[in-house]
Amino acid sequence: MRRQPGVLIVEDEPAIAELIAVNLRHNGFHPTWAMDSASAQRELDAVLPDVILLDWMLPGESGLTLARRWRANPRTKAIPIIMLTARGDEADRVAGLDAGADDYIAKPFSTKELLARIRAVLRRRAPEQVGAVVVVGELSLDSATYRVSFKSQMLKLGPTEFKLLQHLMTHAERVHSRPQLLDKVWGDHVFIEERTVDVHVKRLREALGAEAGQMIETVRGAGYRLTSQCAALPAVH
Ligand code: CA
Repeated sequence: MRRQPGVLIVEDEPAIAELIAVNLRHNGFHPTWAMDSASAQRELDAVLPDVILLDWMLPGESGLTLARRWRANPRTKAIPIIMLTARGDEADRVAGLDAGADDYIAKPFSTKELLARIRAVLRRRAPEQVGAVVVVGELSLDSATYRVSFKSQMLKLGPTEFKLLQHLMTHAERVHSRPQLLDKVWGDHVFIEERTVDVHVKRLREALGAEAGQMIETVRGAGYRLTSQCAALPAVH
């Protein structure tokens, strides 16, 4: 049986905490509840959760201060944090994300949306499959050794291009929109412009070379797709 993902709820209002906890339990999570910063810290010192739901307005230290501290600590810095708050304006949203929160959800929120956000941060943080070699056509990518080859020829890719190619290859023949690629490849950096995707696709095509580069198709108005149905190179006359 798969372990239930642990969710630490840091929230001083018992009614909200209880509502969240009940919903999490019903959906296969294992929630724990801390009502202030001190007990949240004690919980973290004891057991590391998979996700932290962090209220902004807490008695004592604010959620923002806690997020900063947990991000600065090597033991806790990789745990996804979703800020819960009544504050909804742009400046606060930016402050929350700057403090290291992975996502932000304004109260009142639907528990359905909260669950979706939790699943999304868990997916983004999930480690890539290790040791898996993906092959599409003559293109091969090994995530364990970070090697990419085309027709047995080694190719040199930057880290972002590698991640991008890995995502396209593990989801080949499917069209990915720019926002989807941003979410899957860049994940936490929510403020990156969609144009960035185009820049890295261009670099990826260059790194792949003329022939393999054609495997990455631009689907007009939709996004990008990696296909093994590589179009023939234009004939040279
Ligand atoms: Ca509160």
